[in-house]
Amino acid sequence: MSTLTRQTFNEVMVPNYQPAAMIPVRGEGARFWDQQGHEYIDLAGGIAVNSLGHANPKLVAALTEQAGKLWHVSNVMTNEPALKLAKKLTQATFADRVFFCNSGAEANEAAFKLARLWGNKQAEGKNQIISFHNAFHGRTLFTVTVGGTPKYSQGFEPLPGNVTHLSFNDLAALEKAMSDKTCAVVMEPVQGEGGVTPATEEFVKGARDLCEKHNALLIFDEVQTGNGRCGHLFAYMGMGIVPDIMTTAKGLGGGFPIGAMLTTADLAETLAFGTHGSTYGGNALACAVAGAVFDEITGSEIMANVQARGDQLRAGLDAIGKRYGTFGASRGKGLLVGAPVSEAWKGRAKDIVNAGLAQGVWCLVAGPEVLRFAPPLNITEAEVAEGLKRLDAACAALCAQPKVANA
Ligand SMILES: *Cc1c(COP(=O)(O)O)cnc(C)c1O
Repeated sequence: MSTLTRQTFNEVMVPNYQPAAMIPVRGEGARFWDQQGHEYIDLAGGIAVNSLGHANPKLVAALTEQAGKLWHVSNVMTNEPALKLAKKLTQATFADRVFFCNSGAEANEAAFKLARLWGNKQAEGKNQIISFHNAFHGRTLFTVTVGGTPKYSQGFEPLPGNVTHLSFNDLAALEKAMSDKTCAVVMEPVQGEGGVTPATEEFVKGARDLCEKHNALLIFDEVQTGNGRCGHLFAYMGMGIVPDIMTTAKGLGGGFPIGAMLTTADLAETLAFGTHGSTYGGNALACAVAGAVFDEITGSEIMANVQARGDQLRAGLDAIGKRYGTFGASRGKGLLVGAPVSEAWKGRAKDIVNAGLAQGVWCLVAGPEVLRFAPPLNITEAEVAEGLKRLDAACAALCAQPKVANA
């Protein structure tokens, strides 16, 4: 028996997280096992990160091959895996140029800095950034400021200025707030952390037009929606518009930390030599793994699987929600799926997650009132079915418990 337990966490770690009681030690595909050998179906994917499951043989091969060659040289030199990955990403997207970093927050930090630098050069005072309530863009000071959850920035003042928050999917509000002082509008194609809320087509297209009108940049935060998660390589590809800047991370490395900011050749000139940087960004190990992830997602039947498993998952969730009254109609895109808890279960999304863990299935919350699912993109039909069966058992167990007074 390991002497490392959840109690150890309290003794040696900063308390900014509250991890589950069990500790996973090994994974394979869409399953993983804890210290006691209990098996879990992974419908969370490490928060939309493990896009090809745990210990994927192709990713293990890419990582170990690169590990025997070259790990890191810093950006004083470039490296072959980074160049290969940048070629793949620019060939497959609107973008001509890539900046690599290590996380979603860093990718957004780069995007926001680019937008500010660009706007301030265009005209004096052109530095307003517009974002939306319930948006999530990361946990650095700039990204929590642009994000739409006030409790993530409260207490950290003074914050970077001239950031405006509007209601998501409210085109009239955006039209009213925008002016020639706006340098960028930033949005997630599907708000992930905020509750799995897709942007409407009208909103996205309207935002694109307004950005043209006011010479502002449209930034798509595809940290969570990108890399096949929503059924396209990037979600913008299914929305009939093209952003000026796109950020991604999470699924990009399939579990190896890497982030990227992508943009056009013109805009890339803004980040001239010396304006921005990252020691680890574009690290050879990370880029080798991300290159293998990219090949797998673009070269196989995975996109079709995302659609089919997404439909299967949503139908199954809707059936469970009806049976127990725990949550309402599901929403989302591809394998980024949300199920809002019903009135009777308000504030108890986390209870459902914990009941799921007790039955051997892992799902997430998105905000306090929405269950979120982001399984590996290559999860099988049988694995989704098994996960749903266990979630059904979790809801049955919860409903069988006597109601706590005033709960
Ligand atoms: C997770 C997430 C981020 C932050 O990514 P980190 O890697 O945690 O810094 C930013 N934007 C979106 C949309 C995300 O889902």
